Amino acid sequence: MGTGGEGTARAQPFHCPYCGEPDLRPGEQHGTWYCLTCDRRWRLAFLGLGPGEHEGDA
Ligand SMILES: [Zn+2]
Repeated sequence: MGTGGEGTARAQPFHCPYCGEPDLRPGEQHGTWYCLTCDRRWRLAFLGLGPGEHEGDA
């Protein structure tokens, strides 16, 4: 059903987490993105399943 067969799970962010604008471009490295609006480069990382054990433990 339309699988690319690349063997990589890619998550496409639709909005910049910093400014909320959708003007994103893929970065040079895998999982990195560049926001044209706020000029930020950031990484989209998979952290794991379930709630974090240290969530709210600050
Ligand atoms: Zn931004």
